This record gives sequence, C-alpha cells and structure tokens, in this order.
Amino acid sequence: MAEAFAAVEIIAAKRDKHELTDAQIDWVVDAYTRGVVADEQMSALLMAILLNGMNSREISRWTDAMINSGERMSWSELKVPTVDKHSTGGVGDKITLPLAPLVAACGAAVPQLSGRGLGHTGGTLDKLESIPGWRASLSNAEMLKVLQDVGAVICAAGAGLAPADKKLYALRDVTATVEAIPLIASSIMSKKIAEGTSALILDVKTGSGAFMSDPERAQELARTMVALGTRAGVKTRALVTAMDVPLGLTAGNALEVRESIEVLSGGGPSDVVELTILLAREMLDAAGVTNGKDPEVALKDGSAMDKWRQMISAQGGDPDAPLPTAKEFIQIKAEKSGTIASMDALKVGISAWRLGAGRARQGESVQAGAGIEIHAKPGEKIAAGAPLFTLHTDEPERFVRAEEALDGAVTISDDGRVAPRLPLVVARIDSHDLA
Ligand code: URA
Repeated sequence: MAEAFAAVEIIAAKRDKHELTDAQIDWVVDAYTRGVVADEQMSALLMAILLNGMNSREISRWTDAMINSGERMSWSELKVPTVDKHSTGGVGDKITLPLAPLVAACGAAVPQLSGRGLGHTGGTLDKLESIPGWRASLSNAEMLKVLQDVGAVICAAGAGLAPADKKLYALRDVTATVEAIPLIASSIMSKKIAEGTSALILDVKTGSGAFMSDPERAQELARTMVALGTRAGVKTRALVTAMDVPLGLTAGNALEVRESIEVLSGGGPSDVVELTILLAREMLDAAGVTNGKDPEVALKDGSAMDKWRQMISAQGGDPDAPLPTAKEFIQIKAEKSGTIASMDALKVGISAWRLGAGRARQGESVQAGAGIEIHAKPGEKIAAGAPLFTLHTDEPERFVRAEEALDGAVTISDDGRVAPRLPLVVARIDSHDLA
C-alpha cells in the first residue's frame, strides 16, 4: 500500500519552522512504529522538534498518536476511583514506595506503572526489585486482581502500552533529544493516559538533581502536561518540587526501600514524610475521596504499612526478608566543623550511580545494595571528622570515581549561614491555572 506521506517532507517542514498537520503527525508516529520511517529520519525530525518546538495542537496530536499506537487500559470494574502519581525523577526520590500503599489505605486505588532508572536518577522498579521475590512484570489481569485485593499496584508497563514511546524514548536517549518539552510531555502523558487512571498528580522536579534544573522550564513542562491530561479527561494537577538537595537520607535501591519502610512505620526523614503526605492529600482530593482517613493518620496507625505488606506479597515479594546490603562500604568525613551550607543533589546522584545503584545503558543490571547514606543535611551542624556520607558497593574499585563525584558536593560554613534553597513546593498548577 502506498504511504500517505514522505518522511523527508515532514522533516523539512519542521526544519523550516512550519506547523505539522494532524495527518502528518498521525502518519509519522504510526509509520515509525511500523518501521517504515527509519531511525535516521525520526532522529532528524526529533532534533527539528527540539530546536523549533511544537504548538499545543501539535503536542496534543503527537500524544494521541502515541496513545493510539497501543492498548488503553480500563479500571471500570473497580468500585473506588483511581489516581496515579508520576515524578519526573530525582536523587533519593523514593516517594512512590510509601505513597501508593498510603493512598490505598485512605480509600483510592493506585494503578502505578513505573520505570527503571537511567543515569543519575533512580527508578522505582529497581528499588522494589531489591526486595527478595518481588516481581515487576504483571499481566493486565494480575494488575487488576492486585488492585481489587489490595488497592495499590506498582509494576512495569507492558509491551502493549504506547509502543511508539518505547521506540522514540530509546532513540531520543542516543540522539541528544530527550530535553525537548513537547517530547517529554507527550512521552510521559501518553503512558499515563493509556494507563487509564481517572486522576493524576505530577511531581515535576526542579533543581540540580532534576531533569529540568531551571524552575521556569519545569513549570512550562508542568503546564504542558496538565493541559494534555485535562484535555484527555484525566483530572490532572502538578506540583513543581525541589530537587536541589537529595530527598531524605539515602540514594540507592535497597537503601531507599529501607527508608520508605521507616516512613511507613511512622518515622523517616521529615522532607520525605512531608512530601509523601502532601502528594497523598493531592491525590485523594483529585480522586474525589474526601471522607477517607487522613494520610498523616494512616502513616501513624499502621494501616499504610499493612497495605505495603499486602502489596509486596501480592507481587511475590517477602516483606519480612532482610534487604540486601553491599559487600563493602567507606565513610567520607567532614573536613572541618561548622554548619552544612549546601549539598548538591546532582553530585550525590552521580556518586550513587557510579557505586552501581544505577545503569549507564538500558538493560544493564543494578546492584541492590549500592548507594549512599547521608548523615547530615543542610542546616545541620557537623564536627570535623564526623561522617558526612557512607558509600556502599559490591565492587570496591568503584569507590575512587564515586568519591570524585562528591568533590565539592557539600560546603560547610563557619558562621551558621546556609545557601539559599528552593522551597519544597516551588509551584502548584491545576487546569484553572492554564491560560
Ligand atoms: N520520562 C519519560 O517517560 N519520558 C521522558 O521523555 C522523560 C521522562
């Protein structure tokens, strides 16, 4: 059958800053998924989009074309409303782990499709896979069963969900075209809309450890995604939140599971607890659950922990099994006494990655026990020689490069001064805020 367009004409149109028509977008996304448009042609088009942008009509159509490349899931059999959260990723961002069971304990269902880490940001599935026996891959029927029985499920997106995005994301990764707002927004939202959730809270990270380090660009990304979700009938809101300093006191897979369990036990670092409760309240409100238990109570009374244990067991995991630990560790100590003035999330993330907590290429395996424990955060006093970080890995030859990454990660002031920090919530955007 003759093809409706020639890829080269579509590439030339975007190169010359023209708008693409709906028909051109539908065809090029479909033809790329079918293998008719070659990788080198799609690479050129992605670079033209990165350089010349897309307007809101083009972004919506591109997102729809990616959704239509695969299946759409439906949770209509559930008796409670569904709500999901998506984070654009950061260092020590383990919030999904306590959040999903917490929201389930408060009365909404959470069908959470998550990803793996790439580069310096961790991935939820890698973290959960450090729990002995836990399985990330579930069929749609298994997912529905866990949702019905427990109310929360965290698993990998199946091959049938937005296959166009799987191909496009892998290509963007190797062609320096990840950082385009239209491409990030359509990639995230195509999967979230196809996942079939009725409400969605986006946690768009900003600061050195985030994808979008510039708060203005992070807000633009947030607005673009809220517009896409709203248009698709998903009740969507975004919080733009700080990622200039790592979240909590751990970065690394099993280390972050341990910290999440502390939060579910009613303890844990205050920033992780605060963001978890804030996001849980947003999710419940967006889902229309107004008469359920308050998230702060559910963390204290053990009901969120009960859901966690059920959720882990339902996916083959043993919630009582000891978590893996790395074979080797070293401590980095404070060179002088004073107050921690700053801590760079990006440097901590790169160090954890070099210890083996993350992967350099898709498909590589990660070390469950590798990562960093943080012993003091900005604003806290420290004595010369006291531990700042503990670095964990199975391969001690990784310590040198991991230590190098931490060069200049922390500054200590003599006079108690602390460097300016982003507020935990930089902005909140819902559909009413869109122009
Ligand atoms: N996460 C995604 O799923 N897609 C992107 O483009 C960026 C982050």
